[in-house]
Formats: sequence, structure tokens, C-alpha cells
Amino acid sequence: MRSRRPFLRAGALAAAGGGLAVLACATNPATGSKEFMLVSESQEIAMGQQTFQASMQNYGVVQDSALQAYVAGIGHRMAAVSERPQLPWAFAVLDDPVINAFAAPGGFVMVTRGLLTHMGNEAELASVLGHEIGHVTARHTAQAITRQQVAQVGLVGASIVKPELAGVIQAAGQGLGLLFMKFGRDQESQSDMLGFRYMMRTNYDPREADNVFETFSRMEAMSGGDRLPDWQSTHPAPEDRVAKARARLDTVTADLSSFTVNRDGFLRRIEGLEFGPNPRQGYFEGNRLYHPEMAFQVDFPDGWKRQNTAVAVLAAPPKGDAILQLTLAKGTPEEAARAFFGQEGVQGEPRRSTVNGLQAYGGDFQAQTQDGTLSGSVVFLAHKGQTFRFAGFGAAQAVSAYAEQLRATLRSFRPVTDRAVLDKQPNRLRLQKVPSQMTLQEFHRRYPSVIPVEQVALINGLDGPASVISAGETVKRVVSR
Ligand SMILES: [Zn+2]
Repeated sequence: MRSRRPFLRAGALAAAGGGLAVLACATNPATGSKEFMLVSESQEIAMGQQTFQASMQNYGVVQDSALQAYVAGIGHRMAAVSERPQLPWAFAVLDDPVINAFAAPGGFVMVTRGLLTHMGNEAELASVLGHEIGHVTARHTAQAITRQQVAQVGLVGASIVKPELAGVIQAAGQGLGLLFMKFGRDQESQSDMLGFRYMMRTNYDPREADNVFETFSRMEAMSGGDRLPDWQSTHPAPEDRVAKARARLDTVTADLSSFTVNRDGFLRRIEGLEFGPNPRQGYFEGNRLYHPEMAFQVDFPDGWKRQNTAVAVLAAPPKGDAILQLTLAKGTPEEAARAFFGQEGVQGEPRRSTVNGLQAYGGDFQAQTQDGTLSGSVVFLAHKGQTFRFAGFGAAQAVSAYAEQLRATLRSFRPVTDRAVLDKQPNRLRLQKVPSQMTLQEFHRRYPSVIPVEQVALINGLDGPASVISAGETVKRVVSR
């Protein structure tokens, strides 16, 4: 979870139309073919905007306006030469270490910090952006929704708890469902083709797309086939994509030597970028969450699933029939508690107390909801000028088994003063120019990284430790300060 920060502005958004417009047999803007379509353009934009905002809220955005503008600049140039330049295109770099890229319908494209750290030049990034733009221009999400004949599908986000609990206290992650919509192989191949088209139109060297596919192949090999990022696991096999990309390249008659690759400029943009999870925003040691930026710690129950998003820390028991939720609240603890207990259907008597020396206000509650009676405990805590709301609850009949664990967890919130925790820093990308020819293994001995040499190979688009680096080349490494 993060301190409150401004989110990126999504840019001017077209007004969304109401009602479900039935557009039987619309013409697909990217392919020109006629297709049955239940979703209008204004609905695409409205859904995409909601997904975009929810994603930025859930993951946070990388706080580097120059980097955001750089990525958006590439995206806008490519979108402008697409078949749908009039959409309210918006691009963002999400603050997520996982390698991923998403397209929400209507022109909203997101890449992760993790993706950027694994790209070797601007043309590689352009190939990913072009592919995602292709999903938008070819209306793949709209097609998927039409296929499922449910225009609202995916608008309620995935949750680690049962859905009836998720809606009670405003849950994080709503609106993310569209991001995890699976596209078919034909749609992925079509997006590759469209991305290639947009690269050609903006003079990005399309040969560089190969490196991206290769990086994904290496990741697949390294991970042993499991733990693949969402993006890769839903995409066609890299070998298949490489074969198709090479066939497309064979049709190119233009002289590609003048096309943009821009390795140095790209690397300068990403130098210093955080690599891997950012411990400043919370990290676990066993069941204990430490939050250096907000200077607190919490002990979660043994064996519970946990999720630390930008807006909340969530935990749930294996059965998923209760939830612990830590978020920020408005006002003083007393004001926030009164607002909470003053809601219609909520019963309970909040009381003033202290928790590990912190001013607190809260108590047990019962809430009547359309899904039945919920019960649990909530405490509002004053810490470092902010009010935290820490709640544990579940369906009344199930939650009694957890009541003591929930209360004990709420009481485990305490300030952190340990400098080793407060000063914890994320790992960062550093660039190193190689003075003479050497293998990556030699490079790694001379310029060590905090990650294994195999991973250094991966982020540099190299096969492995034996790969040879020429004199004068710039290589990425990962350092702790
Ligand atoms: Zn795709």
C-alpha cells in the first residue's frame, strides 16, 4: 500500500454513451471485415477508462514523469498511424515488477516496470506497444465480450475473497477483470501483425520484435514452464510468433537500416528504474509485513493468503471466508470510526483506545448487507499524520472461528523505528559500459549484480553466462543502492 499520491491524468476522454447499442455486423476498423458486434465504441471507451483507472489505482504508476511521457510518446505516435487514431489513447507504466503489458478497450495501454527492465531498446518496446495497440484497434475485447454475450463481463475485479465479501467495504482491484481477459491465438497473431504494421509506419525496426519473443522463450525455459507472467501464458508460443514475424520480414522491401532502434536513448531512460518488488511499499518477512515508507508493521495469521496492492493490504484464510483489510481512511480516527459505524445497517459501539501507543478508535461490528449479515472488528489508528483503517470481517456464521485471530491481527499494528527497516531500498538498474571484450560471466564477476548471472543474461537479451560482450557495449546490471 502507498501513501496518497496523484495518479496520472488519463487525458481527455470521450463521453461514454449509455445503454447497450446493438451494432449487428459492424466493420472491424483494423481488419476491414464485417463482424457481429454488441459493443459500441463509446462503450469500449467507458469500459477501458474504468479498467485503466482501476489498474493505475491498484498497481500504482511509476513516479517518473519523464519516463511516462517517453513511453506515452512512442505509443501516441503508433496510435496516430493506426486505423483508430481518434480514440482517446492513453499510456501508462504501472509500478509492477512482473513482466506484463495490457490493452483495455477504447485506447488504454499499460506496460509494467518489469517489462521495461527486460527490454533492450526503443524498437523492442515499440513492438510490445504496437501489439497492444493492435488488440485495441481490432476490437478484441469487444469481440470477446460479444462472444460471451455479456457486456458487463469482467467489470467486477478478481478478489482473493468470496465475492459477497468484496463489495462490503470498498475493495481494491475492482474493474481489473478486463485486463485478464484471454484473447485467442488468432487474435494474438493478428495483434502481432498489426504491431508490425505500426512499427513499419513509424519507422521502428521490426526486426527487433524478435528479441522480445526470444526473451519470452528464455523466461519460459528458466521458469520450467510454470510461473509464467500472465501476458506470456495467454500468448501464442514464442517459436510460432518468431516464425510468423520472420515470414512478415521477408515481405519487406524497404531499407531497414535507417529505421529506429535507439538502444542508448532507451537505456538512459530506464537507468535507475527499480528492479523487482519495491520493499519501500511493504515487504513480508514470514507473516510480518514491514512498511518502510509508512513506518509500520503488522503480524498476519499463519497460512493466510496475502496481497499488498497500492491501495490496500489484504489477507484471507485458505478457505477465503474472512478478510483482513488495511487501508487509509479520511479524518481523525474518531471521525472515521463515527462515519463507519454511522452507515445504514452497521451496528456496534466504537470506543477510544490505544494500540501499541497509537491513538485508536474502533470495536466489533455487525453489518446487514444484501448478501447477509457480516461481522467483525475494525480499528482506526492515527500514525504519522494519517488515519489507517484496519478491518477484519466475514459472514457472521463463518467468522466466529476467526474472531480472536482478527482482533489479535488488528492489535499487532505498531510503529517501526528500526533503521534497517526504514532505510530498506529497492534494487535498481545500473548501466555499465564494457571496456574490453568479455563473457557475461566475467562481466558478472567484475561488475556484480544482486541477481543471479542467468537473470542478468535475461534482462540483457543474452543467451547465458557464456555469451560474449563486445568492447564498448552497454550492459544492464542490478544493484542494491
Ligand atoms: Zn496480446
